[in-house]
Amino acid sequence: MKIVYLDYAAATPLDSKVLAAMRPYFTNKFFNPSAIYLPAKAVHQAVEAARSKAAAMLGARSAEIIFTAGGTEANNLAIHGVMRHYSDKKVLISSIEHESVLAPAHRYNCQELPVLADGLIDLSAFERLIDDDTVLVSIMLANNEIGTIQPVRRIADTIRQVLVQRRKSGNLLPLYLHSDATQAANYLDLHLSRLGVDLMTLNGGKIYGPKQSGLLWIRSGLTLEPLLDGGGQEFNLRSGTENVPGVIGFSLALEMAQTMRSVEAERLKKLQQLFYDRLAKKVPSCITNGSLTRRLPNNVHITVPGQDNERLLISLDEAGILAAAGSACSASDQKPSHVLRALGLSDNDARSSLRFTMGRATTERDIQYTVDTLARLIA
Ligand code: PLP
Repeated sequence: MKIVYLDYAAATPLDSKVLAAMRPYFTNKFFNPSAIYLPAKAVHQAVEAARSKAAAMLGARSAEIIFTAGGTEANNLAIHGVMRHYSDKKVLISSIEHESVLAPAHRYNCQELPVLADGLIDLSAFERLIDDDTVLVSIMLANNEIGTIQPVRRIADTIRQVLVQRRKSGNLLPLYLHSDATQAANYLDLHLSRLGVDLMTLNGGKIYGPKQSGLLWIRSGLTLEPLLDGGGQEFNLRSGTENVPGVIGFSLALEMAQTMRSVEAERLKKLQQLFYDRLAKKVPSCITNGSLTRRLPNNVHITVPGQDNERLLISLDEAGILAAAGSACSASDQKPSHVLRALGLSDNDARSSLRFTMGRATTERDIQYTVDTLARLIA
């Protein structure tokens, strides 16, 4: 039976070119980049070349790139790294952030920004909630469950205005903007000067690179507290011998994702439209969740009222279709998704919701088969 994989937001397969680039660093180029003999220096240079490549994709400086073991670590470094310096101050996050932002932020004085019914943050609430004590704002670029793309640039502009007012009133507290761009890197522009952020998270496991790879970009001039102390690698912000194959693989995956993002986004937008059109015809009872315009092109999220999503997922799995109910990162959690509740869905509707996320191998036939199978199961 052919498998139709529609859970690319949870994990992407490693690209074969990425694997080939990583392979030598597991075997003959295994040296510790901090060692002083020549073969180790070559490995060190390869790590630095990977850092430059990642920096070039973002319009950043190499010294602003901290390689991490994935998105969770980068998000924790951003939140704790800033807030440990300002532990009596406030952090403002959206109510639909990933758990790896929500959980560290809630260790401090944290306020959640509501989202509107379409999953976009409420900008007027943002202007109201930001106050003289707010030191950090964390708003994801694109949501992992419903695929909505947040107006990060607008938020950055508001922050700049708030800072001007603060300076005028003699308040010297900084105000930083962090964005978790884990789900965005395959489809969106990541150029930092256009986004206007101060810190940004990327994750190799979602861009056809290795799992447990990623980075936190930190604007020059910001000082963060490290999560890990030790040998002082990664500019003293992430001690531990570098994951050399991971770093090499991550940077190539990022370069490939950013190079093909426009073409891939166009292709997937057509498949997304096909998905919606066929659903409207064959499963007319289903409701789509999240903005249809400010949305990642690979995400289709629906509620099928009266249906139990776990039962549907098992039946889809039996038909060879792999999809998700919420975010796989909280798969062990039986509570309805905090994202869907933030949109205003009832617990029952949240438990009747399915997420399909497409990727590089998804075809028209996959979508036709998926919708037809769903229609059959519901009938
Ligand atoms: N941020 C977002 C938006 C995610 O979707 C995920 C994983 O799904 C993460 C962070 C955490 O990534 P990881 O589990 O690879 O550390």
